[in-house]
Amino acid sequence: MKFVIAFVLLDYSNYIWHVLLHKLPFMWRFHLVHHTDLDLDISTAFRFHFGEMIGSVFFRGAAVLLIGASPAIVLIYEIAFEAATLFQHSNTKLPLWFEKVLNTLIVTPRMHGIHHSMVKKETDSNYSIIFSFWDRIHKTVRLNIHQQKIVTGVPAYADEKELSIGNLLKLPFKAVRKWKEDERPNDGNYNDLRN
Ligand SMILES: [Zn+2]
Repeated sequence: MKFVIAFVLLDYSNYIWHVLLHKLPFMWRFHLVHHTDLDLDISTAFRFHFGEMIGSVFFRGAAVLLIGASPAIVLIYEIAFEAATLFQHSNTKLPLWFEKVLNTLIVTPRMHGIHHSMVKKETDSNYSIIFSFWDRIHKTVRLNIHQQKIVTGVPAYADEKELSIGNLLKLPFKAVRKWKEDERPNDGNYNDLRN
């Protein structure tokens, strides 16, 4: 029981961290590097600016102390976290029915793909890492987007030639470009995952 509670709370702390990465302008400068990827695949799971990674070490360390998680639980959580990150950024095409079943509990590629959309409201949703219920609890869930309509990336950073490793490393220290608003009419129930 203690194990389950610590595991779930560690995941909640990472949901909070991910929301902060988007909501606090200083943190967004770093997390933006991850979101500039123009197509999602396993490599996206490794595309994090070192500044974000250093910050996350301190945040996660504080969360572990606060939760009082044992080293064994932290290790198991970290393995699950990495597996979840690889899975949700992969371009695995699972049958929709199967993904809907998985998504009742965990974050799936279709769900996380919406978080990487160029439409701002869609990026501002689906922050969960392992368990999908954090987004449902906080009403930040948005699943009703047809997958073929999603364009991945950040509109102001869509020129591939600009996205070299050197430029990405410097990105957090430059003025952040305005997000070009791109609306999509709301189409039905947010909890309805679509093909
Ligand atoms: Zn994000």
